[in-house]
Amino acid sequence: MPTATNPSLPDGPIIVWFRNDLRIADNAALLKAAQSNQEVICLYILDEDADETTHYGGAQLWWLHHSLIALSKSLEAIGAELILKRGSPNKIIKSLIDDTGAQTVLWNRRYTTSHIKCDTELKCELTNDGIEVISFDGALLHEPTKLRTGSGGPYKVYTPFWRALSGMDEPRDPAPKPQALKPYSKTIKSDSLDDWALLPTKPDWSGGISDEWTPGEQGALERLDDFLDGPINDYKEGRDFPAKHDTSKLSPHLTFGEISPYQIWSEVNAKHGTHTPNKETFRKEVVWREFAYHLLVNFEDLKNKNYNSQFDDFPWHSSKKHLAAWQQGKTGYPIVDAGMRQLWQTGWMHNRVRMIVASFLVKHLLIDWREGEKWFWDTLVDADPASNTASWQWVAGSGADASPYFRIFNPILQGEKFDKLGTYVKLYCPELRDVPEKYIHKPWEAPEKILKNAGVTLGDTYPNPVVDHKTARERALAAYQTMRKST
Ligand code: FAD
Repeated sequence: MPTATNPSLPDGPIIVWFRNDLRIADNAALLKAAQSNQEVICLYILDEDADETTHYGGAQLWWLHHSLIALSKSLEAIGAELILKRGSPNKIIKSLIDDTGAQTVLWNRRYTTSHIKCDTELKCELTNDGIEVISFDGALLHEPTKLRTGSGGPYKVYTPFWRALSGMDEPRDPAPKPQALKPYSKTIKSDSLDDWALLPTKPDWSGGISDEWTPGEQGALERLDDFLDGPINDYKEGRDFPAKHDTSKLSPHLTFGEISPYQIWSEVNAKHGTHTPNKETFRKEVVWREFAYHLLVNFEDLKNKNYNSQFDDFPWHSSKKHLAAWQQGKTGYPIVDAGMRQLWQTGWMHNRVRMIVASFLVKHLLIDWREGEKWFWDTLVDADPASNTASWQWVAGSGADASPYFRIFNPILQGEKFDKLGTYVKLYCPELRDVPEKYIHKPWEAPEKILKNAGVTLGDTYPNPVVDHKTARERALAAYQTMRKST
């Protein structure tokens, strides 16, 4: 057995279990296996034990298919095959150990409650059987349980969390890419990726998503390069304007672990060494992701339960009609509809617009934030168990460090401020393309003649607003008061 002073691994094949770390660079588990000079079995399991907090939504299954192809090619180039198996991870790994005589299992850590439970149980059982199991960091810059306030508890507010994190040592450098792996010498039966049927067929709705994204490690590195070569220089101001392309669009790559936050941090430093407001703002956003994981790990069931239990008494309305109008981008509020259509077409939505559409669902339509979270989960390519739930609770007002409930985003003013010319709206709601700037965020106020000239008939070519803004705002505030009185 290896000891603390002898970090070598036991003789025998090593299983490297890939999960949300679909990359070969800065992959500490893979590097450890490569350095051992022992036979390596690279494994990915389509987890049939996954629960509602960890199973993939439709858009992510599309991504996973392509990301596994990319990973498989990268591994082949350094000598190993990616073995695909479907089922219960616990059973599959034990049976692979029986079949191959593997003595070691390596993985990079993951952080949802059910993943932690799965990994802890498996590690314990395998260790009892004499198998060496080692887990590594890679998904987060800091272990989410380690950062503590002065009184020893978890952080609940972002700014002190950021201050604490930025006062720590700089994150480590990324680990190098292994140059070669010694493949397992016998044949292991792998599933065929096509048999997993991850891609949509009847109908195939993935066209817009394929046009927008290149899943895989190479696609992630190219995104980072492109971002650091230009958009980062306008990030602080530009990141709020959805028609600009000033954000990195790294989120799905981070979610699937095709790139690590260490690689991002280090490249930002390498290319933008000097301390600039743009770089600082970008780093702060990357740390929002860390904060979301900090909340997820330290507060149980963030996906289902209001962080602020006062919201358990909130008088939500359930309206299938309104929910469908929101999901389909047919609310009659152009900025909301453009956002929801961007999501459907490309699997992603700009952050500013995510806040607007989420606020609209929760406050204008009074629909429970969990409905919105679920829809995002199924349609986002970057759906992330921590960021999605934490952000929905933030917008709803029920979360830690949440936006106050009574701060209700006005979709008209938000549109006018962040998409003044309506460029973004017109891209996703082309039926409004000829509406003049003055009315693009409130077409119902346009005189009949102007609408006619623009080819718009409200209620026919474009919906009437599903709710009146002023009435909806008052209703939301009244609902909030009802909740406060009842608690
Ligand atoms: P950039 O602006 O380039 O930021 C760089 C990285 O920082 C992002 O890739 C992301 O990993 C992280 N980041 C930025 N902003 C946030 C934030 N507010 N919270 C957490 N991490 C952040 N992000 C997800 O990754 N997955 C989700 O499922 C998700 N759901 C969201 C739901 C709602 C209602 C809202 C309001 C926000 C949500 N976000 C989510 C956060 C944010 O919208 C996205 O991370 C961002 O739009 C991704 O685009 P980008 O990569 O261009 O971001």
